[in-house]
Amino acid sequence: MPGERPSWFKVPAPRRAQTGAEETRYDKISAGLKNLTLSTVCEEAQCPNIGECWNGGTATIMLLGDTCTRGCMFCSVKTSQSPPPVDPFEPFKTASAIMEWGVDYIVMTSVDRDDLPDGGSGHFATTVSLLKSRAPGLLVECLVSDFGGSLPAVSTLALSGLDVYAHNVETVRRLQKHVRDSRAGYDQSLRTLEHAKKTAGVYTKTSIMLGLGETTGEVLETMRDLRDIDVDVLTLGQYLRPTERHLSVVEYVTPEKFEWYAKVGEEMGFKYVASGPMVRSSYKAGEFFIENMIR
Ligand code: SF4
Ligand code: SF4
Repeated sequence: MPGERPSWFKVPAPRRAQTGAEETRYDKISAGLKNLTLSTVCEEAQCPNIGECWNGGTATIMLLGDTCTRGCMFCSVKTSQSPPPVDPFEPFKTASAIMEWGVDYIVMTSVDRDDLPDGGSGHFATTVSLLKSRAPGLLVECLVSDFGGSLPAVSTLALSGLDVYAHNVETVRRLQKHVRDSRAGYDQSLRTLEHAKKTAGVYTKTSIMLGLGETTGEVLETMRDLRDIDVDVLTLGQYLRPTERHLSVVEYVTPEKFEWYAKVGEEMGFKYVASGPMVRSSYKAGEFFIENMIR
């Protein structure tokens, strides 16, 4: 069992404006959030990439509340089978807030809401439509659940006008039951991604956590399965245990191995692979899409 985190996990503190200097994007988003009821994953998860992402013009907003109906063994969000009701004004509040921040790329994500008839797909779709009607140039990524396996719910969101449909497969096939809630599954996640691509021709994106006991062969098999359904973008990052109650880290994968996966992934035909110990699903997502794919 590995002990202390290796040295490659040290990251610089977020860049804030010096007194009298021009406000950074980090400052602007940080100040804007204080006046709103919205939360960002960046802050909630104490994501170490916050400075790089926010200053680079990418932030991840959470919709549908902070309480999940599922309980995955790697995730520290609150869980309940009957979370508080959804705020029907949230799409409007979210759109207004995002417009003020002046970001180029927004990632919207949420907990899983199996208690809602459509899993929250309509709520996301309304938010995307509002954002796109006010700022057609803003790039929107939605990182969403499998909507309980409902393909009509996937279609609703895929056809809403978003640019990138993201859903995480999280781990290799063998470890799914060990790592994810029993309502999630490898094939269900593949069907979600495949359906989004076939229905709307949008970019699709997924993430795999490493360090949970998977073998190199299993990671490569997962990557091939994802290419078979034409997933465009893949991110690979190190699993870090949020608390003692969560799954232990089996291995700290070296930066060199992450680089190797990136190279192999690009050879397999992914349009982009972000792979590194600190990489998270939405890590600097905007920079890549803005520079390379969409505009
Ligand atoms: Fe936020 Fe994702 Fe960047 Fe972390 S990686 S700061 S959660 S946008
Ligand atoms: Fe966390 Fe998502 Fe699992 Fe809910 S479904 S427990 S938010 S990883």
